[in-house]
Amino acid sequence: MPRQNPIVRRARLRYDARDMADNVANPDRSAGAALAETIAQDKDKRGKARSLRPLAYLWPYVWRYKGWLLAFIVFLILSAAASLTLPLIFKIIVDCGFGENAANIEYCQRIASSGAPQLSTYFKFAMIFVVLFAALGSLRFFFITALGQRVIADIRRTVYAKLLTLSPAYFERVRTGEVLSRLTTDTTLIETVLTGSISFAIRSVAIIIGSFILMFVVSWKLALIVMAVLPVILVPTIIQGKRIRSLSRDGQDNLAYASARSGEALTAIQTVQAYTREDHEDAAFADNIEATYKSQFGRIMNQTFLTFFVFTMALGGIIGALWFGAESVKAGTMTGGDIVAFTGLAFYAGSSGGALTETWTNLLRAAGASERLVDILETQSEIQPPASPISMDRAHGDVVFENVSFTYPSRPENKALDGVSFTVRPGETVALVGPSGAGKSTVFQLLLRFYDVSEGQVMLDGTPLTALAPETLRRQFAIVQQNTPLFSGSAMDNIRYGRTGASDAEVIAAAKSAFAHDFIMALPEGYETDLGERAGTLSGGQRQRLAIARAILRDAPILLLDEATSALDAESEQAVQKAFAAMSQDRTTLVIAHRLATVKKADRIVVFDEGKIVGQGTHESLIKDGNLYARLAALQFDQSA
Ligand code: ATP
Repeated sequence: MPRQNPIVRRARLRYDARDMADNVANPDRSAGAALAETIAQDKDKRGKARSLRPLAYLWPYVWRYKGWLLAFIVFLILSAAASLTLPLIFKIIVDCGFGENAANIEYCQRIASSGAPQLSTYFKFAMIFVVLFAALGSLRFFFITALGQRVIADIRRTVYAKLLTLSPAYFERVRTGEVLSRLTTDTTLIETVLTGSISFAIRSVAIIIGSFILMFVVSWKLALIVMAVLPVILVPTIIQGKRIRSLSRDGQDNLAYASARSGEALTAIQTVQAYTREDHEDAAFADNIEATYKSQFGRIMNQTFLTFFVFTMALGGIIGALWFGAESVKAGTMTGGDIVAFTGLAFYAGSSGGALTETWTNLLRAAGASERLVDILETQSEIQPPASPISMDRAHGDVVFENVSFTYPSRPENKALDGVSFTVRPGETVALVGPSGAGKSTVFQLLLRFYDVSEGQVMLDGTPLTALAPETLRRQFAIVQQNTPLFSGSAMDNIRYGRTGASDAEVIAAAKSAFAHDFIMALPEGYETDLGERAGTLSGGQRQRLAIARAILRDAPILLLDEATSALDAESEQAVQKAFAAMSQDRTTLVIAHRLATVKKADRIVVFDEGKIVGQGTHESLIKDGNLYARLAALQFDQSA
């Protein structure tokens, strides 16, 4: 049975205690609340890092593409230098290009005496320069975005490949939603940074430094005036910026709550409607959305005032400098071109400074995202392959549990199995029965080595499972569970999931054995019909038959059936049981079933209760013993009689 995430489960328990009455009225509410609660717990984990250091984790991925990196750096430097030269070219045009004053300006005369260019020459030169400037900027953009996209594709693939190797214990600790958000949101944050922000940041810093140096060169007095205004702008911007970011984060958190709630409600839409809780769900969503709006409104108000303040001070500072400059031009200590160049440089510095504050937040967010991704990449799977695994082609199917005890990592206080010993000989069919929670499915989990035992050992053909590579081990099993997940895609694809190389004819033969052929042929496009997300267009019994066909196709030496026919009607169950019986002939088969009629014919029945084996034998011998099995059988067969 699929287990619920323990974090959600714990949160749900806490919620249950607080609001029991409402839960009884609406079982979905607790799930929504639990999710909201876990989101609140995660609030601190999401978001930004404190420093940019975690971005260094990205370096090895970037370094793989040294050529592209080098090209980017070259074009970055060239385009920054070109940007800074532009105001100086305008200075020359204004000073020397318009004739009248040029005669009074010394450097114009020097230019004139070295070949006397025409007015048009200056402009032609400027045009060529603009094309060069645009080309350099575009190449810088090309190399950094192409590099960023390449790197992020590598990171996404590496993270996903790693996730696929992690054991179920990891997915119990970290919610699937959280893992998915790491794979999508976090990588997108890094993408933004790699394809833009980093380049912007470096360019902005270079331009700010360059602009200030040139501003001092053009007129140190004007530069000092601009410098004096800087702290007046920066200090309130930093303080207000913090407040704005905190409001913006509140808004995002509220939106996350709203999404979690609505996601829960929409996936359980039938329950919502059956319990007529539409108004309730609507109100809860509205609460969160209004809270989001409130935080965002607060942010906008703050940002509006800040924008007004920054614009006034920055432009005021520049106008003040210009005023001073105009007086200097009048007095002949500065030229008109100086003023033009200075204004251009001041605008450059100002806009780069503005861009840098925005980029800074992005960089910190991406640093946080890198930290979370590295968290995944550095996670060691609890299931470690042996250093030199023993090879195994096709197992005979000799299974031994030797004094096995096991507790799930998320529930250390509960022994799921306690001193369990039993053997299954090759080709034997053994049924595991017992009350719910007795530990039957856990036996399968350990056999597939999704977890390692706490004590004792499990062996296959005399080899401890830990001595085999997990892939080698798992290749020996075909499993059908009560809710075996199917994937979006066609019926053919879903069955072939059991054995990738199987031919169409083999898939169809497996479907026939699983009594799935007729219903598949009745679908609009037969085997090629797209079954929709999680094969949601099929009935429970049809899904189960596809899962059975998949297991039949796998043709593995050991068959694990966990309530494999529970969703079938009596007639199909009987037919599928026959198919299983035929398969079981030359295979080791372990069957879990609550319906004892299905396991009556097993070679041996092992009875579990509270993690222990409380009886073993055939149906008849166990009935004779008169213990737990006899009681369960009496209940079931009396009722069905
Ligand atoms: P059922 O017939 O209801 O499927 P089962 O006999 O197969 O029950 P198991 O699924 O093996 O029982 O569960 C044995 C015990 O381990 C139960 O107490 C169960 O709550 C617990 N358990 C099962 N899976 C997990 C898990 N992933 N994390 C923590 N505890 C678990």
